[in-house]
Amino acid sequence: MFASLAGRSVIVTGASKGIGRGIAKRFAEAGCRVIVVARSGEAAKLVAEDIAVAGGAAIPVTADVGTEAGVAAMAAAAVEHFGGIDILCANAGIFPTTRIGDMSMAEFDEVMATNLRGTFLSVKACLAELTKTGRGRIVITSSITGPMTGQPGFSHYGASKSGQLGFMRSAAIELAAAGITVNAILPGNIATEGLLSLGADYVASMTASIPMKRLGVVEDIANAALFFATEEAGYITGQTLVVDGGQVLPESLAAVE
Ligand code: NAP
Repeated sequence: MFASLAGRSVIVTGASKGIGRGIAKRFAEAGCRVIVVARSGEAAKLVAEDIAVAGGAAIPVTADVGTEAGVAAMAAAAVEHFGGIDILCANAGIFPTTRIGDMSMAEFDEVMATNLRGTFLSVKACLAELTKTGRGRIVITSSITGPMTGQPGFSHYGASKSGQLGFMRSAAIELAAAGITVNAILPGNIATEGLLSLGADYVASMTASIPMKRLGVVEDIANAALFFATEEAGYITGQTLVVDGGQVLPESLAAVE
């Protein structure tokens, strides 16, 4: 149904684990060549090796997306190994949980540096190469938390995830004339290393509040990312897609009992 993306050069940030690893594998299955970015080089290497074993092409890059040097390294690797950048999946993110009264300025800044500044820096570093293609794609992993919902302990995180959408809307306008689309996925609760580390009680309460009665899997998000990257999605820009098993829908507790 969709035109093949085979051969496209894709950068996926935060691809050593969780949703990013799922996105990297899904794009590799679609024939894309993938730059696997994370701070942990060893974990990124394992993902790239998995992709290679499955017949795909992937290069690991050790980089912190909150730094200009980090994003420059990932963009340079894409140019060196794959000849350019067609698609950027800005996915790297952290979600420490701390209530406002206990939150240090350093923790607030760290969340912003990774989730929000990391998105801006990643887009900026890839811009020249995305522009050259005439059909660049940027897919941001935001969240329902912040843009649509709130949670005790997630105020900094929610602000960063809402900030990504504010960034996206202006970026979509700025880049439209270059044929670049900028869209965001808003995952609900997806079973990843990061989410599961929040504990069994958290997982149980989230599962109970999801109409589909299960956490999402990384492929649920990866498929949405792949869709935004297709030729056929080329007239969609500045938009959000909630992928949450219906979690934001209930108007009352009775609706999920
Ligand atoms: P995860 O399992 O903790 O994985 C996070 C990934 O990001 C890892 O590969 C991590 O590798 C990387 N990362 C973290 N900080 C980085 C940095 N400064 N530079 C480069 N890479 C960095 O998390 P996840 O659940 O897959 O979440 C991925 C994204 O989805 C995040 O943006 C998160 O906000 C969003 N999200 C997740 C859920 C969910 O339910 N899981 C829901 C809504 C939104 P290193 O630690 O080695 O750098």
